[in-house]
Parts: sequence; structure tokens; C-alpha cells
Amino acid sequence: MGGVMEIQETMRGAVLLGPEQIEIREVPISQPGPGEILISIEAATTCGTDVKVYRRGGHPRMLKVPTLFGHEMTGRVAAIGGGVTVFSTGDAVVVANSAPCGVCGPCGAGRENLCEDLQYINGAYAEFLLVPERFVQRNTHLIPEGLSFEKAALTEPLGCVIHGINTCDLSRYGKPGEAEILIFGAGPIGLLFVAALAAKGHRVLLADPNPNRLAVGKQLGAAEAFEITRGGGQAETVRARTLDGKGAAVAIDASGVPQVWLDAIACLRPGGTVNLFGGCAPGTTIPLDTYLLHYSELTIKGAYHHRPETIKAALGLLADPGFKAELLLSGEQPIEGVEEALKSMMSKESLKVVIKKSLGSN
Ligand SMILES: [Zn+2]
Ligand SMILES: [Zn+2]
Repeated sequence: MGGVMEIQETMRGAVLLGPEQIEIREVPISQPGPGEILISIEAATTCGTDVKVYRRGGHPRMLKVPTLFGHEMTGRVAAIGGGVTVFSTGDAVVVANSAPCGVCGPCGAGRENLCEDLQYINGAYAEFLLVPERFVQRNTHLIPEGLSFEKAALTEPLGCVIHGINTCDLSRYGKPGEAEILIFGAGPIGLLFVAALAAKGHRVLLADPNPNRLAVGKQLGAAEAFEITRGGGQAETVRARTLDGKGAAVAIDASGVPQVWLDAIACLRPGGTVNLFGGCAPGTTIPLDTYLLHYSELTIKGAYHHRPETIKAALGLLADPGFKAELLLSGEQPIEGVEEALKSMMSKESLKVVIKKSLGSN
């Protein structure tokens, strides 16, 4: 590649119109203005959030219909606007799906995921994406040599997972491997937790109702992976799987089911930390055992989204050939197959599907 690419004027894109309504449309391509870049999307990956958005027909924070959607994407810089110096035409990049303002209180405190003016970008299931200036400056990254577009598309979810791990303060529990970390849920997020923690030498236990997903967890480095019944109420069974039966030092929920949040809390040993990572439906509450919380000195954490630093760390981890995150990529579909891909995730046939403008490219 190189030189000036001839840019077409319209492109195909998957437009979300409402609940379970997607149409493939020919839409205009915006040319990059000052500070902006246009990327030709090489690979996008479907995400549990997209499934939610598809079912509900929107998302209060991230998008309003009708809109192009999809938010895990990689591509090549196809055109650059005036004043852009850090990227050149042909560069392979990953664009994170949000960009912090850099000046508010949370941004100043290094908590950009809580930015008071966090901007989101959507439109991965299309041929091109116009990247606004703030994203170009703060959250667009070159893909390291040797890392495929498909695998690099996992940067966003892994960036969230690395942020989630950072919030657990694992150094409180000794050297990696000394404490047990329990993960509830073997969907893509739970499995990325397994892979990222196992890569650092932690002993990880994984609980989920789906044996196929548990098998992937084993391949990604889980010390133990065991079946539980759907819907919660599994604390006794799960606690019994820890080495001394006293529970785990750290438990992470990657299910987003309130009953499972309770199980995760109930599986902690004294002094333990729970990270309630899986977002539950709005308006959901859980009852807390105040006696347990107080006398066992439990730490209860929430974690949301990612920071530019954790996005960079994710890209670095994905570039390691020993980090087998490609096991999460269940198949490929063209843009026209987005709906089919999301349905295959709903039925749990797929973990994640790679969406490409045309199959057989790259
Ligand atoms: Zn995602
Ligand atoms: Zn901010």
C-alpha cells in the first residue's frame, strides 16, 4: 500500500433501526477534516454489548438509532485530514470506542473511563469509519508488526478486562499463583479474564454452565473449569472447589446476573475482593449480607470500560503469540451477516464473530 488511495463516495454499512432490526444500507463516506482520519475497516468483532444494543434497539450512553454500529474495529488509514502527523495512509490501526476529554477531574486523576465528557464512536460494521480528532489524538493506536487485524480487534474488550484486573489490587494477595482467583461466566469477557490472569501466572478457577466454553477456558490457562447451574445459588458448590474449601481471595463476575453477583460475594474468603464486572440491567439491586461484609472485611468493587493506558496494554498482550485470544473468534461473516452473527452469539453457538467487508480479504 502507499500513495493516495482512491476513496469511493458511498459505502455499505449495517444500520441499526430498532429492536432486532438491522438494514444493510449504502451510506455516504465523510472525508476527513482537519485532525481527522478515515480508516478502511479490515476487521470488526461482535461483542456482548452489541447483542444488548441489538435486542433493545439502542443504548442510553453509547448510541441512538438509526445509526451505524459495532465498536470493536481495526483498519488501515485510508485518508488523513490536515494537520495529522502521527498517522500516514496505509498504517494499520486500532481505534478504541471512546475518547476522554483529558481535562476534567476524573481525567486528571487518571480515571479517564469516568470522564465527564467521554465520547463514544460506533460504526465498525461498515467499510469505512471517520475517526474524529479527539479519537485520533487520544485513542488510536498502531497495530504492532505481526499482529493480525482480527486478533487486534479484541483490543477493546481486553482493555476493559485489564482495567478490571487493575481495580482488583492483586498485589494485596501475594505473588501471582499464591491466591486463587475465581471467575463467574465463560463468555468472551470471562475468558479474556482467564487468559490475562493466567498469562501473569495467577491460579484461575472458572465457573459456567456451558461445557464448550469451559473447555476454551482450560485452553486459555484456567487451572480448574467447572460446570454450574444457570441462574445463581451456586456459592456452596463453587466454594468447595477452592483449594482449602475456604473460598477465593478474589472473585470476578463476568455474567451480569444479579444472583451470580451474590454468589461471587459469598465465595470470598475473609479479606477477599469481589469485582462485579458484568453489568446488570438498569434498576437491578442485590441484598448484601452486612455481617459477612463487616466481619470478613470484604472489598466490593465495580469496574467500567477502559482507559487509554489499558488499551495500549491490551494491544501489547495481544501481540504476544503465546496469548491465544484468537480462540474467542468463532467464525467470520461479511457485513451482510451481522444479524446472523449476533444471533449466533445469542444462541451461544459463537463467542465472537469477525465481521469483514468481504470474506477472503487480507
Ligand atoms: Zn465490546
Ligand atoms: Zn474527561
